[in-house]
Amino acid sequence: MEKNIKILKKERRFCSVCEEEHELELCEELTESTVKEEKIQYYKQYYRCNKFKDKNTFMTGKMWNIELLNKIDEYRIKNNLLTSFEIKEIRDKYKVTQAELSFLLGLGEITITRYETKQIQETSNDNMLKEVYNNALLTLNLLERNKEKFSQKRYKEISEEIKKVIDKESLQYLNEQEISCKYINYAEESLLNGNCVLEIDKLKNILAYITKKMKEVKKVVLMKLLWYIDSLSFKNTNKSITGLVYVHMPFGALPIASDELLKLSSIKVEKKYNDEEFLEYKITNNPEFKIIGLSKREKEIIDLVIDKFKDYKSREISEYMHREKAYMETNPDEIISFEYSKELNSF
Ligand SMILES: [Zn+2]
Repeated sequence: MEKNIKILKKERRFCSVCEEEHELELCEELTESTVKEEKIQYYKQYYRCNKFKDKNTFMTGKMWNIELLNKIDEYRIKNNLLTSFEIKEIRDKYKVTQAELSFLLGLGEITITRYETKQIQETSNDNMLKEVYNNALLTLNLLERNKEKFSQKRYKEISEEIKKVIDKESLQYLNEQEISCKYINYAEESLLNGNCVLEIDKLKNILAYITKKMKEVKKVVLMKLLWYIDSLSFKNTNKSITGLVYVHMPFGALPIASDELLKLSSIKVEKKYNDEEFLEYKITNNPEFKIIGLSKREKEIIDLVIDKFKDYKSREISEYMHREKAYMETNPDEIISFEYSKELNSF
C-alpha cells in the first residue's frame, strides 16, 4: 500500500484513462508542494484506473479547484491569513455577495471571488477583512464611503443588516470597552502581561477555541487554563498569547477583569448551584461565533494545555497551580510576573 494514499471509495463513472465507463477508485493523497517559496502539505483527490499500472490517475475540473484551494488555504493557515472559508464567513455575517464585499473594501469587483477560489490575499487586505469582521461600525462607515458602488436598494438593505449587527453587538461593545479600561495600565509589553498587549478579538477567539474543544468548562478551570496557556507560551517563546494580566487569588491565578471576560460574545455562561449550594459557572462555546485568525502555533499550545488538564476538576487544577513557583513566590492580590513561567511544572 502506497504511503500517504487513502482509497475513499469505489465509484462507477467515465474513466479518462481508458476512455470507457467502469469502476474507479476515488483516492486521497497527502501531497507536498511549494507556495511562495514555502513548503506546504495538503490533500488532493483523484480517480485511479486499475487497468493500468502507471499513468493511471486523473482529476476532474472540480478536483483541480479543490486541490488549489486546499493548497493556498494551508499556506494561509501557516501564515496567519484568513482562509477562503473564513472570508465567506465575513460575507455571511453582513449578508453580502462577493462583489459587494469587494466594493465595501474599495477593491475591484472580483477581488473577493479570487480570494475565495484561487488567489492569496495581500496582507493589507487581510487586515482590513479581519477588521470588517470584528467591527460593524467600521463596516457601516465603509459602506457610506463606497455608497456610489451600490444600487439604492442594496445600499439600504446592507445598511439595515449592518445596523442589526451593531444593535446586537452594542452591549458587547461596552463590555469590551470596560475590559480595555481595566487593562489601560498594561498597554506596554512587560513581564506582567508576558510581553503581549491584550487584544480582545484574539482573546475571544481563544475562549471560543478552548470551549469548543472542552465542550463545557467551569470558571475556575477556564481561568487556570488561560494562565497555563500564556505561561507555556511565555516559557517557549518569551511571549504570552492573550496579553491577560493575572493576580494571585485563593484558587490560583485569576486574570484582571475576569467577570467581563465571561461576558464576551464567543462563549455562553450558565450559572447553577451545585450540590453544596455553591454558585458555579458553566461555560460553553457560542456556536454562532466563528473562530478566525488563530495561528497554528497558538492552537498547538492551547491543545497541549487542554490535553494535560482536560480531566481536572476545579479543585484539582487549583491544587496543581498552588504548587507552581508563580503561586508560591507571590503574595495574595499580587500580580503574578511571567518570570516564574520559565519554571513551569511538567511542560
Ligand atoms: Zn479506466
